[in-house]
Amino acid sequence: MNLAPVAYSEIRRDLLVGKRTCVEIVQGHLDQIAAYNAQLNAFLTVYDEESLARAVEIDAKIKQGNAGPLAGLIVGIKDLLCYADHPSQAGSQILHGFQSTFSATAVQRLLDADAIIIGRQNCDEFGMGSTNENSSFGPVLNFANPAHVAGGSSGGSAVAVQAGMCQVSLGTDTGGSIRMPAAFCGIMGLKPTYGRVSRWGLIAYASSFDTIGPMAHHLSDLAIVLKTIEGKDGYDSTVVDDFSTDFSSKKQVAYIKEIVEHPSLQPEIREAFFAQVAKLKAAGYEVVSVDFAFIEQLLPTYYVLTTAEASSNLARFDGVKFGHRSADAKDLMDLYKKTRDEAFGEEVKRRIMLGTFVLSADYYDAYYTKAQQVRRLIQERTLEILAESDFIISPTTSSTAYKLGEKTLDPLQMYLGDLFTVQANITGLPAISVPMGVDAEALPMGFQITGKAYDEQGLIEFAKQFE
Ligand code: GLN
Repeated sequence: MNLAPVAYSEIRRDLLVGKRTCVEIVQGHLDQIAAYNAQLNAFLTVYDEESLARAVEIDAKIKQGNAGPLAGLIVGIKDLLCYADHPSQAGSQILHGFQSTFSATAVQRLLDADAIIIGRQNCDEFGMGSTNENSSFGPVLNFANPAHVAGGSSGGSAVAVQAGMCQVSLGTDTGGSIRMPAAFCGIMGLKPTYGRVSRWGLIAYASSFDTIGPMAHHLSDLAIVLKTIEGKDGYDSTVVDDFSTDFSSKKQVAYIKEIVEHPSLQPEIREAFFAQVAKLKAAGYEVVSVDFAFIEQLLPTYYVLTTAEASSNLARFDGVKFGHRSADAKDLMDLYKKTRDEAFGEEVKRRIMLGTFVLSADYYDAYYTKAQQVRRLIQERTLEILAESDFIISPTTSSTAYKLGEKTLDPLQMYLGDLFTVQANITGLPAISVPMGVDAEALPMGFQITGKAYDEQGLIEFAKQFE
């Protein structure tokens, strides 16, 4: 099996001239799922019959010459995304038995373009985690080495692409959840600018950080999926009308000194990163080192604000409207308490409590207000850097994929793994992770590029030299 399959554009060419059929393509991915999913745990549900039936329909449309722009693109969707009349559980038992009555805008737009959704993918509960070990369905294993984690929270989405079980995955990124597992699994992942893709139908974790984006082996696949899912939507007022950009290239890129000198950075990753820097210089770019005084504030800002937002967003899961309901409650208050106690996992409970604390009357100013102020400072400094340089580059993660269980006992160690990725979410900027070779243990490394707001096109164009 070729694990870096051809890009969709090539598959499409074959489909349109009758060299391949959607049925064959779906069957090929289903075979791959049958061979590996029981071990890797990437898919929670596989829509086998349904995707084959859709393939038959789309093959007919191709024959009639009226197939959509993504005809036969095989997509997997993270369990945080709603798909009408299909289960969505956010990796949690609190949504046991829940089926959405509508589809996320991003999912609906893929369906309208004749993409085929092959299944829903495992993830950390409500997107809270960096290894996929916080899923109530068990961890996802890395196809490069199953003793190691997939990364998270879109771990199932990353491994499904890595192992050839789908062409593209739709993941979500609140603090790195597309880019980090992409880096750990040796694939590409794009976190769009906040406001580019509608969040309608994305089960909310931290609403001012959450984004939906594609994961794939090929940049061209990221680009076509983004083009399909982006843009104005009556259901999400934060999506902007017009994101045309006009940035002239200064042929200057920056890296943050505090990141590349960070003590947690694995030496091989630093080496591989500077090999990329040398490549850029050889291609005529000026690569500058810049200071970033807020490096110590990135994670506290992220974790104060996201837990605050999560504590509010997750209040709706109380046993009344969705999913799990405790069987032995004696009154309403008891129902809330027992339902939430029984069905939320440990990390989700920790974050709800932390978020409730930072929003409480006595501590609101000390934590929540302060973090909002620091968020602004981080944004201002980041934009200052991007006023001088076209892009900010860094490794995506400080290490390659951890061993299973290595970080699970110490949540602070786990949070530290998000250090390089949260800046793009705090600022709302677009960022991409592309593969950067493997370390001595043959585990993949990732190279991250952050761009200007709404300049995904420039970002993808620039990333081509690393593909
Ligand atoms: N690892 C980060 C967290 O646990 C990021 C998660 C995400 O992007 N959904 O919050």
